[in-house]
Amino acid sequence: MNDCVFCKIAQGKIPADKIYEDEKFFSFLDINPNNPGHTLIIPKNHYENIYSLPDEILCDIGLLVKKISIAVKQGVNADGINIIMNNDSAAGQIIPHAHFHIIPRFADDGLHHWPGKPYPNKEEASEIAEEIKDSF
Ligand code: AMP
Ligand code: ZN
Repeated sequence: MNDCVFCKIAQGKIPADKIYEDEKFFSFLDINPNNPGHTLIIPKNHYENIYSLPDEILCDIGLLVKKISIAVKQGVNADGINIIMNNDSAAGQIIPHAHFHIIPRFADDGLHHWPGKPYPNKEEASEIAEEIKDSF
């Protein structure tokens, strides 16, 4: 895609702090990290989100997510790792080129998980589970 920032990074047209590159994938530091070492992984080809990622690319990127998570954890001596993929703007996706966030975590780093919103009752949870199962 012509005006996609991540396509441009993958093509070397916009500079980035490269972590990893192969024929199909590119990985680089997030410019606005949640913690030092926050890394992004993208397919070089433009796909907007997980829904449109070909299965083969998704399988390969899964292996890469594992490999780079281990490297980030060791590289910045993190205590843990969050792996996040935002899909659609409602879920916080800003750049419409599929990407995984590898976020190193440190004990007491001040970042908090989203608050839980318990179901009002068991019936509502069961109904929602049915709706999701019916959607496969
Ligand atoms: P998302 O909200 O999942 O779309 O996240 C997009 C991420 O891309 C954000 O964390 C940004 O800080 C990061 N980002 C945007 N532009 C660049 C860039 N030129 N180089 C590195 N990271 C970027
Ligand atoms: Zn793109």
